[in-house]
Amino acid sequence: MAKKSSQVSGFYKLPVKERVDFVSEFADLSDEDKKLFSSFLDIDTADRMIENVLGTFELPIGLAVNFLINGKDYVIPMVTEESSVVAAASNAAKMARIKGGFKTEISDPLMIGQLQLLEVEDVVSAAKKILDHKKQLLDLANAQDKVLVDFGGGAKDIEVRILDSPIGKMIVTHLVVDVRDAMGANAVNTMCEALAPMLEELAGGHIRLKILSNLADKRIVKAKAVFDKDKMGGEKVVDAFIESYTLASIDPYRAATHNKGIMNGIDSLIIATGNDFRAIEAGAHAYAARDGQYTSLTKYHKNKDGDLVGEIELPCAIGIVGGAGNIHPKARLCKKILGIKSAKELSGIVASLGLAQNFAAVFALSTVGIQKGHMGLHAKNIAVMAGASGEQIDKVADQLVKEGKIKLDRAKEIIEEIK
Ligand code: NAD
Repeated sequence: MAKKSSQVSGFYKLPVKERVDFVSEFADLSDEDKKLFSSFLDIDTADRMIENVLGTFELPIGLAVNFLINGKDYVIPMVTEESSVVAAASNAAKMARIKGGFKTEISDPLMIGQLQLLEVEDVVSAAKKILDHKKQLLDLANAQDKVLVDFGGGAKDIEVRILDSPIGKMIVTHLVVDVRDAMGANAVNTMCEALAPMLEELAGGHIRLKILSNLADKRIVKAKAVFDKDKMGGEKVVDAFIESYTLASIDPYRAATHNKGIMNGIDSLIIATGNDFRAIEAGAHAYAARDGQYTSLTKYHKNKDGDLVGEIELPCAIGIVGGAGNIHPKARLCKKILGIKSAKELSGIVASLGLAQNFAAVFALSTVGIQKGHMGLHAKNIAVMAGASGEQIDKVADQLVKEGKIKLDRAKEIIEEIK
């Protein structure tokens, strides 16, 4: 079979039906799969997902194209309410392809569960006793999830920390679990709860918290790409890019916005695959502050050829089994579009998309500014808000962009003028 390419020009100009045809061919989707794009989540499924269900809430799925990751072509489904995000990712991926696309490095899927022990008389000897019983503790944890162990995962290590606090010293035991292709929260929480009585017996005192940590700093993904200086507009643009990025590296006020841009891409894919975007957000931001100062999740430098090298590093607690991704039909469809075989592979796409999104935003900010890119779609939204419909929408939006003033009152005036 011919190798499929994710590189497409003018994808945005195609009608929705042709975009669906393209992705169906790319990902070998069935007619049933194709129908899903325009279907709604059925109410019974929704009612089983959360409590007190009233209905469902729809968001658009867009497709980011042009991604080349570790030599393989990907198209990426993105679920977001924000305009310009999908286009920006596709453009950045197109630029990254010139120098070989994205390369990733991914750790084993190790999650951490925490058990908090309070009122321990002698914390030092209790900590030692816990470590002396590591094997028994790991065996007990693994007895909770035979399926995970059969897949090669399971509890792998125990670490003990002694922390000072305003309510006295406490022992915090970390259970390190290889969760394979799961996000792992339920798996880890079940193991933590099972270990609690044994830890109390070993250490004395009593257990309070027993829960997963979202600072998944043993489950790290890195992605790297080189952006061609000529395609960027020359070495001066590369320098301007690095000047812009530098502020995010030293200043939390800028870093927060810079990282929000990264999460524009990452969250869209996390939602599309039915993963827990709050878990990813919490992990990413905590990791960005790991050295005591909140900073950028990406790094950039100029290489000897004058090209821009971009790198991203973040925790990535995501799964392709379990959770809502197993239940929601569109999450299953999005995973099929990605053609992923493991949670690790999905992590590599997550990191590459985050880097692409960040590159696109900083590139725009260093050159034309982001408003230019945002204006077209924003103008269409304002036109609709002002009451435009059908062909009027484009006419009103075009006029707003031409005048460089995208305001609701002006949109209303234009509607009157063209009537
Ligand atoms: P899960 O329990 O639905 O699925 C994981 C289980 O699937 C494993 O324990 C294993 O028994 C089985 N499994 C089958 N094939 C597997 C494979 N190839 N690799 C690994 N496991 C396999 O889900 P989960 O991933 O343990 O938990 C995810 C859910 O927990 C998410 O919905 C998340 O929102 C929620 N959650 C999150 C937090 C948090 O982030 N703090 C806390 C509680 C719950």
